[in-house]
Amino acid sequence: MNAPTPLTAMRPDPAAGAAPDLLAWEFIRTLVAFDTTSRESNLALIDWVREHLESHGAECTLTFDDEKRKANLFATLPARDGNRTTGGIVLSGHTDVVPVDGQPWDTNPFEATPIGDKVYGRGVTDMKSFTATGLAFVPELLRRGLARPVHFALSYDEEIGCIGVRRLIDDIGRRGVRPLGCIVGEPTGMELVVAHKGKKGWRCRVRGHEAHSSLTPLGVNAVQIACEIVTYLTNMARAFRDHGPRDDAYDVPYTTVHTGVIRGGTALNIVPRDCQFDFEIRHLPFDDPDELFAEVRAYAQRFLPEMHEVATGAFIEFDLLSSLPGFDTHGESDIAQLGQACNGTHDHRKVSFGAEASLFHNATIPTIICGPGHIAQAHQPNEWVTVDQLARCEAFMRRLADRVCLA
Ligand SMILES: [Zn+2]
Repeated sequence: MNAPTPLTAMRPDPAAGAAPDLLAWEFIRTLVAFDTTSRESNLALIDWVREHLESHGAECTLTFDDEKRKANLFATLPARDGNRTTGGIVLSGHTDVVPVDGQPWDTNPFEATPIGDKVYGRGVTDMKSFTATGLAFVPELLRRGLARPVHFALSYDEEIGCIGVRRLIDDIGRRGVRPLGCIVGEPTGMELVVAHKGKKGWRCRVRGHEAHSSLTPLGVNAVQIACEIVTYLTNMARAFRDHGPRDDAYDVPYTTVHTGVIRGGTALNIVPRDCQFDFEIRHLPFDDPDELFAEVRAYAQRFLPEMHEVATGAFIEFDLLSSLPGFDTHGESDIAQLGQACNGTHDHRKVSFGAEASLFHNATIPTIICGPGHIAQAHQPNEWVTVDQLARCEAFMRRLADRVCLA
C-alpha cells in the first residue's frame, strides 16, 4: 500500500479550500464532521439524517445496539402509488469510521477539506460520501416521483465486524420489506463489484510446559508447536496460490490464508509455556472455510500425544474470532444490470475485502457494491477521495434516479 502523501509537501494550490462543485458537498461536510469512530455513539449522525429524511416524508425505523448507544437507520421513500415494501432499491452505507489515533494527519480528519482535486477527511472514501450523495438526491427523487420505493440502510459497527447491520436486515425481513436489490457504497472506484470473498478468523492457543532451557526434554515448547501450525497454514496458502481454484475476476484470484499476530515466550532461557496466534482464511465463495479449518485442527491434534507425555495439562485450542460469508451476485441479475446501466459499463469485478454486501445477499436481497474512492485510501491517515470520483458517484445517482422515477 502506498504511503500517504504528506499535504505539507505539496505545492500551495490556488484552488485549495474552494468548495467543489458537487450537489452533495454540504452533505459530505456534515457527515464527516460527526466523529463516528466505531467506539463512539453514532446517534448524533443518525438523528441528523433521520430529521433530513423525515422532513422529506421518509418513514424511518431505528434498530439499536444493546446499550442504545448506536443505531441503524432504515428509511423508506415510498413509491408514488404508496408501495413501501416491494421491488425497491436499497442504498446502503455504514456510518462508523476507523480511528485516527496515532495517525499523522495534516488536516482535521473530521472536517472534509478540499485541496486541489481531492477532498481529505476520515470517511470521505470509507464511506460517508456515497451516503451523502444518496441523501443529496432525495429532493430530486421525490420531485420526480418514484416508480418503486427507495430505501436507505445506514448501519453502525461495520468496521468491527459488520455487527450492526445484522439487526437492520432482520428487522426489514420481519416487516416484509422485499427490495429488488441493494447497492452498497463501499469504495470500488465507482466500478461495479458483484462478489466479495468470505472471511473467517481464529485464534489458536497453545499451552505447553515451562522448563529451564538447558532441560528442554522436560518442557513442551509452545512457540515451536505454534510455529509448526503456522507453517502448515503457510503451506496451505501456497497450495491455493499455485494450484487454485481460481476466479480471475478477483483482485487476488484465489483463497488466501494468513497469520497476522503471534505472541509467545518470556525469556530465551525458559522453554515457553504459552503461545497464541491469530490467522484468517479469506475464501472464494465456493471454498468452504470450515473444511479448511478442520484440516488445520486435525494437523494440530497430531502434536497432542507427545505434548501429553510430558505435561498432561498441555493443550491446543482454537477460538473463532470473526466470520463473514462471501457472496457472488450473478452478473446477469437485475441489480447487476441496473448497476451497469447506472455507471455506463458492462464490466464488473470481484474483490477480496469483506463488506455488508454478503449479509444483504444472504438475506435474499441481491446486492452489488459500487462507491466512490479506492479501498487503498481507506483507513489511512490523510484519507482522500478525488472530486472526480465524487462527480462520478453523482452521475451514477442521476442515472439511478432516471430508472427509479416515473418519466
Ligand atoms: Zn467501509
